[in-house]
Amino acid sequence: MSGTPETTDGKEITQKMDAFRARCHEAGLKVTPQRMAVYRALMETDEHPSAEMVFRQVRRVHPSISLDTVNRTLLTLSEIGAAFIVEGSGDAKRFDANLGNHQHFRCVRCRRIVDFHYEPFDRIAVPENLTGGFTVLRTTVCVEGLCDRCRLQES
Ligand SMILES: [Zn+2]
Ligand SMILES: [Zn+2]
Repeated sequence: MSGTPETTDGKEITQKMDAFRARCHEAGLKVTPQRMAVYRALMETDEHPSAEMVFRQVRRVHPSISLDTVNRTLLTLSEIGAAFIVEGSGDAKRFDANLGNHQHFRCVRCRRIVDFHYEPFDRIAVPENLTGGFTVLRTTVCVEGLCDRCRLQES
């Protein structure tokens, strides 16, 4: 990313920021610079960061922001559907602003979470006895194992 304004990346970021602004308005949320910065930091990475990781990033631009604010903002993003919490593993919550169909590979050693997309996983059916009593919002597939880096260390 060179920062030239006409790259596809630049355009995509602008579009996503606009969509986020619209989503905030719809949800009756104020669009504050801090909120925008938290969203942007999350949207620009594919590392599925924790609140702490987002905090370290946003603090460079907003030195007065607190971890608590970042944490609450991330939870708010999840509530309005601008991001989601990657299904739990007992560790600190990890967040994802990539709302497109995709699945996660989670490394059990270094806790890396890597996106992949395998189309058949998008179409996994939920059993009827579940949908009878519960409202299903999302189904996810998460694959766990050792990532390439950790496997190299092993051998
Ligand atoms: Zn790993
Ligand atoms: Zn993801």
